[in-house]
Amino acid sequence: MGHVLYTNHGLVLLDNDGSVLHREQAYDDLFAFIDKDESELYILLPEYFNQCIDIKKRAPKPRQKDARTKLYLTMSNIMIGLHPFCTPYYQQQAILAYYHDQLLHTIPNEEVCSEPCYHDMFHALFPNGYDEDDDESESPHQVSYHQYLALHRNRFKIATQNKPFYDLYQAKQFTSSYLYWVLDIQAKPFKDNTLQQRSNIFQHCHHMKANRIASASIDYYLGHEEQVQLSADSISIDNNSPFMTKAADTQRYLAEALQTVVSDSAYDALSPDIKKDLLSTIRKSTGRPQADIYFPVYRIDSLFDLLFIECQRMTETKLSIRRCLKCNRYFVAEKSNIKYCDRPLDDNPAETCRTTGPKESIIRKIRNNPAQYEYHKAYRTHYARIRTGKVTQPEFTAWSKEARRRLALVNENPLLLPEYKEWLKKP
Ligand SMILES: [Zn+2]
Repeated sequence: MGHVLYTNHGLVLLDNDGSVLHREQAYDDLFAFIDKDESELYILLPEYFNQCIDIKKRAPKPRQKDARTKLYLTMSNIMIGLHPFCTPYYQQQAILAYYHDQLLHTIPNEEVCSEPCYHDMFHALFPNGYDEDDDESESPHQVSYHQYLALHRNRFKIATQNKPFYDLYQAKQFTSSYLYWVLDIQAKPFKDNTLQQRSNIFQHCHHMKANRIASASIDYYLGHEEQVQLSADSISIDNNSPFMTKAADTQRYLAEALQTVVSDSAYDALSPDIKKDLLSTIRKSTGRPQADIYFPVYRIDSLFDLLFIECQRMTETKLSIRRCLKCNRYFVAEKSNIKYCDRPLDDNPAETCRTTGPKESIIRKIRNNPAQYEYHKAYRTHYARIRTGKVTQPEFTAWSKEARRRLALVNENPLLLPEYKEWLKKP
């Protein structure tokens, strides 16, 4: 479906020929995705499906073209806003998966849907054709018919009926829980646990087994298909990690392979910015071969795999993430005392949450606390008196110290506020 490369600056989605489809900075697409509302999709897909097909009769329904097109486009529009991976092709895949699921669960177990019958319904679902991922000699419906037959053969393993847009749903569930359980430094229940402990807790409570991710194997390395072809079997599974981990030998092998690739025509075919990224990393890491000096390219078949690997990446690099106190979106906090993200403000792109947030928070605090407000007003009046020579600096310092002492008393007992206001007014 796609390939993905992780560089020092974030994720790059690649086309089959190595050209860049999309670049993600600082996990922003992932962070945006988990806060978006996709719930309508889970209702729209069954609705669309029922407009197109009568699954009990195993036949297409008479065409109500406008209504179908409208539903289809509504789904597309929601998906465009969710994540760059949610392309029209991904939407087709979701519809196909739902179709197969309906076939498996609506038709009595032993019965197989015949190919002509499958074909008619397939075309009702995709009246404008189905985009193929790769160039196949067979027509798209034949390829997917074989997928259906394979599912049918294994139907006893498929216990429950899947939700519409199941991959999307699963990706959302997993990513939002993972961020909160493992990576969010503000998540209260896990404050005193290490990253490893949190990862174990997550694994335990979510039954997320290591081999779950085996499908997102490292497929090839920087377009050098024949050089590194790893399968899930050649990757060792560390029991302490929810993710697949690569054996030390594999890492060394990849590092060596990288040195070959840079003098190879496969490297020349890469886009200039990836080359730049790669070279700078090689330069930085010269003389100390370690895991970070290569960029594995993962073959990604689903949004779930993509986000899973991103979570793995964040854990490996021990990133601290938290929600911004101003915009409430997740961001990578370089230090634990950073509380605001550096996204530009919608109404003023020259400023960011970080440049404006702390000041606003002080203003809010003052507004919410009348005693604090009175103190600030009086402070400004008294401070101005230094300039006009009415009080000296030491006198002012003594006054403000006393004012703060009294403020603390008012904060403990709000009934003292009128008395405090009177005191502040004294010259
Ligand atoms: Zn923010």
